[in-house]
Amino acid sequence: MSSRLGENAVVIGGSIAGLVTARVLSDYFEHVTILERDHIEPRPQVRKSTPQGHHLHAVLRGGLQVLSRLYPDFTAVLEGMGAVPGRITLDAPLYLPDGVAYSLTGTVKEPRDLGFQLYSQSRGLLEHCIRQYSLAVPCISLECDATVDGLIHRNGRVEGVRYRRDGEPLSLSSDLVVDCGGRGSHARRWLAENGFESPPESVIGVDFAYSSTKFINPNHARESGTLVAFGGPPPKYTRGAALVLIEDGVWQVSVAGRFGDYPPDDAAGFMNFVKDLPTPKLYEMLEGAERVDEIAHYRFPTSVLRHYERLESFPERFIVLGDAICSFNPVYGQGMSSAILQADALEHILAERAAQASGLDALAAAFFPKAAEVVSTPWVLAANFDFSYPQTKGERPPMTPDTMRYVLILDALTAEDIEVQKTVSDVFNLVRPPSVLWDEPLRSRVHERMHEFDHPERS
Ligand SMILES: Cc1cc2nc3c(=O)[nH]c(=O)nc-3n(C[C@H](O)[C@H](O)[C@H](O)COP(=O)(O)OP(=O)(O)OC[C@H]3O[C@@H](n4cnc5c(N)ncnc54)[C@H](O)[C@@H]3O)c2cc1C
Repeated sequence: MSSRLGENAVVIGGSIAGLVTARVLSDYFEHVTILERDHIEPRPQVRKSTPQGHHLHAVLRGGLQVLSRLYPDFTAVLEGMGAVPGRITLDAPLYLPDGVAYSLTGTVKEPRDLGFQLYSQSRGLLEHCIRQYSLAVPCISLECDATVDGLIHRNGRVEGVRYRRDGEPLSLSSDLVVDCGGRGSHARRWLAENGFESPPESVIGVDFAYSSTKFINPNHARESGTLVAFGGPPPKYTRGAALVLIEDGVWQVSVAGRFGDYPPDDAAGFMNFVKDLPTPKLYEMLEGAERVDEIAHYRFPTSVLRHYERLESFPERFIVLGDAICSFNPVYGQGMSSAILQADALEHILAERAAQASGLDALAAAFFPKAAEVVSTPWVLAANFDFSYPQTKGERPPMTPDTMRYVLILDALTAEDIEVQKTVSDVFNLVRPPSVLWDEPLRSRVHERMHEFDHPERS
């Protein structure tokens, strides 16, 4: 039986979401064309439309697993290109005002091998690696310097796109258009132009800013870790930082602050900010290290979640995916993995439709609820951290005092039991759903300790 669902698919945007989506579509369409407005060089680069590429980018295990399924030998090839492997949590210490820890909240004080490896590299290298893989698929082509201006829409169905390449107006007809245009996606405008409603949005005012640069790692040392974080518990501390060992033995360092406590973008200001972090460790590591890049600054005022799944009508043969659906506070490193997992959800739907020969009708109605499920976990996890700061604005996800108590006990158990830490880590790495935290026998273990936490408010 043929797995074909259509002749031509068009993907708007050739970044992480677009490249992975194109790979997924290549199993179901004769031709997949990626239209990307930037000029793409066949090498790692920070492009005009992805200035976030100057800043630290980590892929979570959930995202990495999908990449490894879609692309044979993915991690070996990435490593061959220069990415640095690191054992979690052995190579990922968190420096806090009261010493070093090995879990997100600082509860686990000794390094443990949780049994998996993550890779650190620049975002440019990761995108380059994914691009090499996707463009090696014969039916996928990439047109760069190609800006999509609008959808070709007739009688409730998208039949292609209008775009410009080097100023020349062009069009491309298709059986499916997937908008992977990122946070600034024009989908809402295009929907309005064609008489459709825009999705409602949830917005969280996180008021965050990053400054990042690179240093030569003295002596190419890796004993201090491959992914090292520095910070202090909220709401007292609004500053944090992370250092990753990336390709060519370079340390990529991102420092960040919230609510007006923004890191500067000049050399002296950057180091002063580092000096005033909640822990002196990063300053000690960087003292005497040679800075080898400009300092790039990025403001991130709000996390935005667009509820496409709530729309009652939507054009046929069109969907939206990646940051265009949900743009997360970058500090938790979820955006790329969420985009990759959304593409994976699309793959499951297309496989089912190909098996049943049920075609592409009402694809949006099938896909958006699945994408909403994918983004819900990282959105809620991030929001709960963000709302530990009273200055954070927006709608707080519901958290009852009992749930808060449950989470605090769970956190205490991670220090006592590596298996609990593995389960919590699976959830934060988007490998398993949060519901596993309420599975037996863990649930009973937590309930046995409930009396110890009668006052769940964090100090
Ligand atoms: C400072 C910072 C740090 C981050 N750190 C992490 C991290 O550690 N881990 C993580 O997972 N995520 C991180 N993220 C988030 C991550 O960058 C995004 O989630 C990821 O890039 C999403 O990819 P995307 O393909 O959906 O969108 P984007 O990367 O924004 O790409 C959109 C693409 O679409 C193209 N495009 C847009 N409109 C058009 C059009 N009309 N025609 C043609 N092309 C178009 C653009 O040129 C661009 O290439 C961070 C973000 C920031 C800002």
